[in-house]
Amino acid sequence: MARILLHTCCGPCTFYPLDRLRAAGWEVRGFFFNPNIHPYQEFQRRLEALQAVSEQESLPLIVRSDYPLEQFLRSVAFREGDRCLICYTLRLEAAARCAAKSRFDAFTTTLLYSKRQKHELARHIAENASKKYGIPFYYEDFREGWKAGQARAEKSGIYRQLYCGCIYSEKERFFISPSRRRTARKASDRFPAGGDTE
Ligand code: SF4
Repeated sequence: MARILLHTCCGPCTFYPLDRLRAAGWEVRGFFFNPNIHPYQEFQRRLEALQAVSEQESLPLIVRSDYPLEQFLRSVAFREGDRCLICYTLRLEAAARCAAKSRFDAFTTTLLYSKRQKHELARHIAENASKKYGIPFYYEDFREGWKAGQARAEKSGIYRQLYCGCIYSEKERFFISPSRRRTARKASDRFPAGGDTE
């Protein structure tokens, strides 16, 4: 049976790609390397969620125990607008390198499952990593199973994160700028609490 290395960003995003790959006849092994997840406690929480999925689904894992947060931040500094490109490159090149070294037949990534990721960018970077390390990249648009995968994750009761991973995405998810706050305040003046504000 052909072996594929599945780069896994987190537990919830693993269900659907794993089912699809197994149905297509692959022997799957997960690979966790995500120094883009901040802070460290959040990183640990997501890894634990993936380990729970691994146990539940009998998915063997390769976990990179290093956490080069400093390398991630240094690569992104002053290029924050390109941070997803840098982030995907760091992670997908690590997956391709590991797959080539461990003689897998191909590699792929759960980043192709999330509707919140830059799908075409992730695909392009994985294709480049494939050429660079001489290991086939398996492409599939796993987003088609978004709803089914989300339902499984919810049912399994594992931790589901609220932001993409890096501190920048955490800010974008929760920070409300003073101007947005003012607009929200004006709206709530017009619509009293309990009214239909959105
Ligand atoms: S937003 Fe997500 S994909 Fe982009 S750099 Fe941050 S963690 Fe990586």
